Amino acid sequence: MLTGTTRSADRMRFILVSGLMQRTNNSSSCPYLCIVKPNLRHLSIEELKNFFSGAGEKPFRAKQVYEWLWQKSARSFDEMTNLSKSTRQLLEENFSLNPVAVEKSQVSSDRTIKNAFRLFDGPIIEGVLIPTATRMTACVSSQVGCSLSCKFCATGKLDRIRNLHFDEIYDQVAILKAQAEQNYGIPLSNIVYMGMGEPLLNYSNVIKSIEHITSPEGLGMSPQRITVSTAGIAKMIRKLGDDKVKFNLALSLHAANDKKRSHIMPINESNELDALAEALNHFYEQTGTRVTFEYIVFKDFNDSLIDASELADFAKRVPAKINLIEYNSIGDSEFQNTTSARIDQFVGFLENRGLIVNVRRSRGKDIDAACGQLANKSVAV
Ligand code: SF4
Repeated sequence: MLTGTTRSADRMRFILVSGLMQRTNNSSSCPYLCIVKPNLRHLSIEELKNFFSGAGEKPFRAKQVYEWLWQKSARSFDEMTNLSKSTRQLLEENFSLNPVAVEKSQVSSDRTIKNAFRLFDGPIIEGVLIPTATRMTACVSSQVGCSLSCKFCATGKLDRIRNLHFDEIYDQVAILKAQAEQNYGIPLSNIVYMGMGEPLLNYSNVIKSIEHITSPEGLGMSPQRITVSTAGIAKMIRKLGDDKVKFNLALSLHAANDKKRSHIMPINESNELDALAEALNHFYEQTGTRVTFEYIVFKDFNDSLIDASELADFAKRVPAKINLIEYNSIGDSEFQNTTSARIDQFVGFLENRGLIVNVRRSRGKDIDAACGQLANKSVAV
């Protein structure tokens, strides 16, 4: 139950953050109707200015705080050292930051680092830093679990719990960026939204996170270094085109025939290849960006020359590059990795048809950090 002192403190908070107050009675830590402090990172710069004006502080404090949040990636009020102690206390009394915390990090023999990140309300998600000779890539999650149940994917076996907030996606990038600099002395060069979850089913948070990652008032990274990967939601691909986004788009294709694709990716039943081709062409017309097709090569499922021919036909319908990806076992006997000889044959066929093809070897296999393997195996959720 709220005490008299707490009640008056909360009243004060209400005056200071008028319009931003949130009430909840479903917090696991509070059995009663509780006052939850708003997340400071969900305020715009204008809202921050209004807060400081209302509290009798100089409005330029808003810019200082905004810089701490989005340029310097502060995840505690104590880090904001150019603010007075009383200003930091004012913020602490009125707001939360709900930062993502590193629960566990594992380093692979190939230097890939897989992180289990704990969210403020308890769930665990995963994010991976992938160093290669030419790139330092952060792979981030967009949802807790996933609702799409792709058969070859470990995340698809988990229920979708909730969408990530944009600041939680941003935090993964900021933490992986710091790990790249601290562990390898190399700045982050690329970001892929290919971790847990379907990014286009968490559209507004994904877009907002990219705004903070690319903005000069944020991390200032180039959108051309960012790739969002989708299992194929035609309506949302069209929306990306309408919004004229500047980042790259990858489609997890994995089969260029509706029957096979629906077998491994149930989302294909409501988003068939014709609808995807139409949406991808719209995306290309609006953005001028060539899409990437991700194609995991499964032994005796999609690795024949007939499969390659279907893929080539589909790739001729949409301006695209093709990434062929090694399959990583998730302990499911239905799928196995194909042989190098089959991949070479497959690549040769596509190249003869004039297509741009890359073969992506998987990284971090020994710590279950490779593509399709993220499933919180190392930490209980
Ligand atoms: S591949 Fe992506 S969309 Fe499919 S289940 Fe896994 S996380 Fe979800």
